[in-house]
Amino acid sequence: MAKQEKLTILVVDDSVMMRNVISQMIEKSGHNAIVAENHIQTMKYLRTQRVDLILMDVEMPVVDGFVLTQMIRKKIDHWIPIIFLSSNDSDDYLTKGIDSGGDDYLTKPVKEVILNAKVRAMTRIARMQSELDDLNQQLAILTNIDPLTQVMNRRGLENFMTKSWQINYRQKSEISLLMLDIDFFKPYNDNYGHVQGDKCLQEFAQLLMKSINRASDAVVRFGGEEFIIILPFTPISGARFKAQEIIALLKSTAIKHDFSSVASFVTASIGITSTSLHAKDHLELIKQADSALYLAKEKGRNQSILYQAEKH
Ligand SMILES: [Mg+2]
Repeated sequence: MAKQEKLTILVVDDSVMMRNVISQMIEKSGHNAIVAENHIQTMKYLRTQRVDLILMDVEMPVVDGFVLTQMIRKKIDHWIPIIFLSSNDSDDYLTKGIDSGGDDYLTKPVKEVILNAKVRAMTRIARMQSELDDLNQQLAILTNIDPLTQVMNRRGLENFMTKSWQINYRQKSEISLLMLDIDFFKPYNDNYGHVQGDKCLQEFAQLLMKSINRASDAVVRFGGEEFIIILPFTPISGARFKAQEIIALLKSTAIKHDFSSVASFVTASIGITSTSLHAKDHLELIKQADSALYLAKEKGRNQSILYQAEKH
């Protein structure tokens, strides 16, 4: 027989005799059985420990197996296979069980060989389910990435900032944020064409990736030719240094741009801010960087400007 993994199976039944009989069958087949006699114990187990499968009695006082299953489906956010056990074998009952969120149905008295077969089948499904969950997680990562430049997209920024903001709040540290815009990108695109324009965006994004050096830093394509760099645990002086580094890096990389009025190569304007300037949330932080970026453009591009709170 193939080596099987040891599962934790929760037996929910109001009858102590039934709990014992079923648990023994489970232990005999090499799995671990835990028992609950009502909905309260069941929910407590599900919240505090790993359960791979539930064998659920239907006829129970107070909260029956169907209602309890609905509760589980509503309150437990991961899927656990549930097999009903009932002495009632009518089609109507079976339908009701599946409708309430159960996965299979067994009639009492339960034959050991049938129970084992069902457990094996359900384990297979549960394993596929967990593989699917992994896949979904990978997909979630993919949906946070801009396909053209391979840096984070706006949605990734939203997730990243929400998390960083919480960490920052707890640790009372500083987050700096740079908003960058490629200067004269429209004439670049119009004259060199979209394919070359896309290449320029990719090179620019790569250059930004090269400029960050900690795992906690992030580069985001905010939209079009606008990018954001997030530097957690970094004072604004560090952000300013980073901006100067990027401007120098653009100069030494020298991506040819004959249609720019400030240089013969691709340059960027950069707005800088940090949480030390009292943004109340990450949206305001982005807004601050954006208004500093606007000033950098106004003042002639190819430079960085620190955000300054407006004076009234
Ligand atoms: Mg019962």
